Amino acid sequence: MIHDIEALFRRGVLSERLFAGGFDPELLFVECHKCSRPIFWEKGRTTHILQDAGISVRDLDERCMIMSHGCPQCSPEETEFELQVVRLAPEGEPSLPDVFGTA
Ligand SMILES: [Zn+2]
Repeated sequence: MIHDIEALFRRGVLSERLFAGGFDPELLFVECHKCSRPIFWEKGRTTHILQDAGISVRDLDERCMIMSHGCPQCSPEETEFELQVVRLAPEGEPSLPDVFGTA
C-alpha cells in the first residue's frame, strides 16, 4: 500500500531540503495517531520501512515523525497499521499527508 511519494514531495509535504551530515531515520519519533502512545520498533525497522516506501533519509529531518493509524496497544486485533510521515509545522501542528505504507 505504497502511494506516490514523488507527488508527496511536489506538494511540499516532505521538502527536499538536505541536512548537513544527513539524518538518522532511527531517530524519527513514531506515535500512534489513535491513542497518542509512542511506538518503539526494533532498531533498523524505520530505515527498512522508509526504504520500502522509496523515501530517502536525505529528505527527512528532525521535524519529521511517523504516525501509525493504530498500534498493538489500542488495536490488538489489527496486524497492519497505516503509516504516514508527517512534518511538524512551525506552529507545532502536524500536517497529514497521504499514507505511504503499512507496518
Ligand atoms: Zn494506539
